[in-house]
Amino acid sequence: MSYKAPKGTKDILPCESYIWEYIEKKARTLFEKANYKEIRTPVFESTELFARGVGDSTDIVNKEMYTFVQKDRSLTLRPENTAGVVRAFIEHGMHRLPGPLKLWYKGPMFRYERPQAGRQRQFHQLGLEIFGIESPSADAEAIQIAMKFLNELGLAGLVLEINNIGCPECRNEYKEKIKEAIRPKLREFCEDCHLRFEKNPLRILDCKNEKCRELLSTPEIDSVINREFICEPCVAHFEELKEYLKLLEIDYVINKKLVRGLDYYNRTVFEITSTNLGSQNAVCGGGRYDPLVETLGGPQTPAVGWAMGMERLFSLCKAPGQKPLDVFIVSDDTKEALKLASEIREHGISVDFDFSARKFAKQMEKASKTGARFALILREEELKTGELTLKNLATGNQEKVSPGEIPEKVNI
Ligand code: ATP
Ligand code: MG
Repeated sequence: MSYKAPKGTKDILPCESYIWEYIEKKARTLFEKANYKEIRTPVFESTELFARGVGDSTDIVNKEMYTFVQKDRSLTLRPENTAGVVRAFIEHGMHRLPGPLKLWYKGPMFRYERPQAGRQRQFHQLGLEIFGIESPSADAEAIQIAMKFLNELGLAGLVLEINNIGCPECRNEYKEKIKEAIRPKLREFCEDCHLRFEKNPLRILDCKNEKCRELLSTPEIDSVINREFICEPCVAHFEELKEYLKLLEIDYVINKKLVRGLDYYNRTVFEITSTNLGSQNAVCGGGRYDPLVETLGGPQTPAVGWAMGMERLFSLCKAPGQKPLDVFIVSDDTKEALKLASEIREHGISVDFDFSARKFAKQMEKASKTGARFALILREEELKTGELTLKNLATGNQEKVSPGEIPEKVNI
């Protein structure tokens, strides 16, 4: 029997983990500069939380959740993190903290999807949420930080798409008009769209199915999406957001068919895509979700946020190379090598050694193979004189050093 990682999951190996670390570190630095605090919530929550918080007309809830029953309780591996963050926000009374509250998170998410390039069953998201601000200045800050982060990672070909999907009130008329325009050809739409037609007809607009997209490219549909059914305050919110984006010099494209997968969005929705990715080209998706905190049992609290797929960032980002090991100790006395290694590490130098007292030549070979910058040689003769030999493995130069000189020599 040989075991393999489950379909749709991936091991992050040592040759890649430093790139993940690089991305995470960049994110933390940027978010902290803007006063976002990290939140870590459980990877599973009650199934009910996602059914209500993500919405039962979504693909996520209908088809993609990993759900299991434990002692009569239905639990689900988180398919996204906004519902969990909102649950924690309410549970810990965070609305009582001086607002606005700005949070960020990173971690694995789980969705039962068909695995393909850029699409896994366990994948990782990085996200942020702003609670307590109704003004589109919060939408603009969220978008600005997402764009800044992607630019800092060196991602090219970024396109920001925005749309205004109105509020639960004004969306009703819009939904009816969309249904009217789609109804004559409904039979030709995909199975999912039939379900959406009843539960959340606007979602039909951003169906990824080719046939559905074709059916939606008609003057009738265009005339519905171009006529403003959105109420005055929602229009004003969008206009103001556009002004903020202009002020921040962030280019955008208005995509009136952009709706986004989650049921809880209102007013602003946005997506950032990269022209350098294949068919799974969305790197970041987000929007405003003013009704969600109340829907999940908390006090009415406006909120906006986004999530990014880290695997997709990983494939595009230009990370610097892995930092090499500073010193490899070559010694015929394992005890002394172990002791010396732990002493030098105290100075912030990375050190490794061969755990055996094998032949000098073999150990030197290993030192080169690890890619270390220096070999520090500690044989009987060095032990006797108390001076070590430090060999620069790039230039081949070597010199005698006293233990106290090592940090200075290595850190040059
Ligand atoms: P998609 O249309 O690609 O399915 P989505 O609308 O389901 O995306 P969101 O729920 O908004 O995605 O998640 C935000 C981001 O997380 C996406 O833009 C994408 O980068 C990433 N993402 C979503 N699902 C997956 C997955 N199965 N594997 C890898 N990344 C994913
Ligand atoms: Mg999806």
